[in-house]
Amino acid sequence: HREAFIIDGKAVSQRVLQEVSEAASTLIAQGVRPGLAVVLVGEDPASQVYVKSKGKAAEGCGFHSVQHTLSRQTSEADILALVGRLNADPAIHGILVQLPLPPHVNATKVLESISPAKDVDGFHPINAGLLAIGDIGRALVPCTPAGSMLLIDEAIKALGLKLAGLDAVVVGRSNIVGKPMAQLLLGENCTVTIAHSRTRDLAAVVGGADILVAAVGRPEMIPGEWIKPGAIVIDVGINRIPGEGLDKNGKPKTRLVGDVAFEAAKARAGAITPVPGGVGPMTIAMLMKNTLTAAIRCAERTV
Ligand code: NDP
Repeated sequence: HREAFIIDGKAVSQRVLQEVSEAASTLIAQGVRPGLAVVLVGEDPASQVYVKSKGKAAEGCGFHSVQHTLSRQTSEADILALVGRLNADPAIHGILVQLPLPPHVNATKVLESISPAKDVDGFHPINAGLLAIGDIGRALVPCTPAGSMLLIDEAIKALGLKLAGLDAVVVGRSNIVGKPMAQLLLGENCTVTIAHSRTRDLAAVVGGADILVAAVGRPEMIPGEWIKPGAIVIDVGINRIPGEGLDKNGKPKTRLVGDVAFEAAKARAGAITPVPGGVGPMTIAMLMKNTLTAAIRCAERTV
């Protein structure tokens, strides 16, 4: 068995961003500039970093990009009013409310107030429902699973396989990753199993996977020995664990690992995503793709 093909999420995400930029310039030439509004409530440092990189990516694609930063104390009513204005704003095609929201705000209520046509995170029940009934042509699909799907396509091509009929196992059933991932794989005619914290024999389930998607959030919880030889392994997990030694500020170093024990899995898998540099970079790229899609659909509705 030769070593696994390492799926380069950075390269694939750059290709997606390049395609989105080109399509955006065509659209702009026709008089429509895709617009993305990102709403940040509070000063959570991780959220600030995410929001900044989303804004930067949007500008890089030539989009109209706005950021609304609201104080932590902003009332739910004021957030809903802002979303309402963005829903009505013809210059905005995508609205993203950065999670988590402060505890006094009902996040479900806020997410459901976003117009489904502008819901570029794909979290609105209408979009979840369209995905569930297989109507991808009308849905906006959550970014992380959509990006993972492109990485699976990349691996399928590299290994010279066909996706239809393969046994896919998704570990994790969240509404943002696991569940939509399973729907996408089902849409591609895989035989899909969804595993979760109550699954009885996870090792046996994982061992049957031609395609394994791990979206749990537990560092290296899937040992390499569980992987079926030749399998495609997509590791969505991003976990920060203690590293070795001290950083330049004298603080203990940390490092990122996935949900899969990478080195051992690499020796058995046919293809595998690294962490970082696998699924991570795909998420923002797919957000840009969704914003472009929302703008194109909007332009088609108005002509
Ligand atoms: P959630 O915490 O919402 O879901 C985790 C899922 O894992 C749950 O369905 C849970 O099962 C399941 N689970 C927990 N423990 C076990 C176990 N021992 N065995 C089997 N299944 C288990 O997480 P998310 O889906 O939001 O995220 C998952 C991971 O992906 C995280 O590490 C997150 O950081 C990462 N992530 C990465 C992104 C990226 O851009 N690359 C984007 C989004 C997330 P149950 O439902 O039974 O509780």
